[in-house]
Amino acid sequence: MQSQGYDKRIKCEVLVVGAGPAGMMAAIIAARAGSKVIVIEQKDMPGKKIYATGNGRCNFTNQHYDSRVFRGEDPKFAYEAYKRFDKDALIGFMKELGVAFRDINGYIYPYNEQARSVANALLYECKRLGIEIRCNEKTLDITQDNKIDNDSDFLVTTDKDVYICEKVIIAAGGKASPTHGSDGNLNKVIRKLGHEIILQDPALVPLRFADNSLSLLAGVRCKCKTVLMIDGYETDNESGEIIFNNDNISGIPVMQLSRYAVKALTAKSKVSLELDLIPDMNDAFLKDFLETSVKKRSGIFETLGLVVNDKIAKYICDRIKDIDELIHFLKHFRIEIIGDCGFNKAQVTAGGVNVAQITKDMESKIIRRLFFAGEILDIDGTCGGYNLQWAFTSGYLAGTAASVKQS
Ligand SMILES: Cc1cc2nc3c(=O)[nH]c(=O)nc-3n(C[C@H](O)[C@H](O)[C@H](O)COP(=O)(O)OP(=O)(O)OC[C@H]3O[C@@H](n4cnc5c(N)ncnc54)[C@H](O)[C@@H]3O)c2cc1C
Repeated sequence: MQSQGYDKRIKCEVLVVGAGPAGMMAAIIAARAGSKVIVIEQKDMPGKKIYATGNGRCNFTNQHYDSRVFRGEDPKFAYEAYKRFDKDALIGFMKELGVAFRDINGYIYPYNEQARSVANALLYECKRLGIEIRCNEKTLDITQDNKIDNDSDFLVTTDKDVYICEKVIIAAGGKASPTHGSDGNLNKVIRKLGHEIILQDPALVPLRFADNSLSLLAGVRCKCKTVLMIDGYETDNESGEIIFNNDNISGIPVMQLSRYAVKALTAKSKVSLELDLIPDMNDAFLKDFLETSVKKRSGIFETLGLVVNDKIAKYICDRIKDIDELIHFLKHFRIEIIGDCGFNKAQVTAGGVNVAQITKDMESKIIRRLFFAGEILDIDGTCGGYNLQWAFTSGYLAGTAASVKQS
């Protein structure tokens, strides 16, 4: 029975905050199980970030999974969840929505390599199921309604309406790429509900260097081995193409290493990247190769310009005196890192709602019928489709659990 004065509240069974991939997946699964679902989205359209993923191509999962792809204080939480809705389940789900897939070296994209296919397919399914997605509406507060109806119902206040609902799924994203919607605006509300938020830092983000002279290399792309050094020790490495920009360095290897670089900088450690520009040759082979070549040419620059990008060749030649120094430079090109390019340039957030307070079904251990899904949780993935897989996996589990009828 509703009390007088509360009749303006909109009733629903499951309210989802955020129409990103996690929120839409949760909504679809709950609605398929028969729940009445409303999704609140602060942006003017659902799935805005999906359009930007994979350079507009949406790399939504990967054929390869190992113990390094999910990160956070408890990555095992993500693996256990993944086992319950894995890449094959996701590919199957997409196929069911009409999205065929294309496998490019294990990276999975929609067949037409257009991210909008994934966003549209989710949206069409929401429409088919009668899910109401309310755009341009911002969730401001979530409280438990202890006074009216039922002591476990939630009151969700937005800038437009007040909702009364049995279950709430918070899928509001992290802080990365706020132009696409997610900006951590619900952190205060989540803390008020009793949840701890692990410090949120940008991840999969370009790293800023200290040495201004490196701006001479802006625009240069080179394939190399990139080693992350923290307080002088090698902690991790990645191979692939890096890109020099005016005050930062990017490219997949740098993005992959950035999470740990950023955390180390926050902890006041000294961070650098050491590039091996010629990873396919060892020092002895390289020395022999360069010495032989130098004899035939008019100097080191001519020799080096045949081996590495000519801007890099010039940069190095201006800084070395002999072949030994040259080899050291080529194999251990050290770049001191002083920061990152911030959440605006980050693809994902490291940190978020502490998963120690969340059940394997994505339900709060503190407040029954409150669920979390996606990047808002303290789980992030490496480049390669793992972040979307996490959003869909956790969305699937939250939607499944939230649709179980309460006795
Ligand atoms: C440029 C870029 C490229 C990327 N490429 C890839 C890729 O190729 N593969 C991959 O796996 N991952 C990629 N990612 C990461 C991936 O997009 C995210 O991890 C994923 O979108 C997270 O899904 P989510 O649903 O948890 O959050 P989001 O997609 O961030 O969605 C959260 C939604 O909640 C809404 N919201 C927030 N607060 C409120 C509020 N108070 N009220 C109402 N609505 C609210 C937001 O507007 C947003 O729409 C990329 C990210 C970026 C930025």
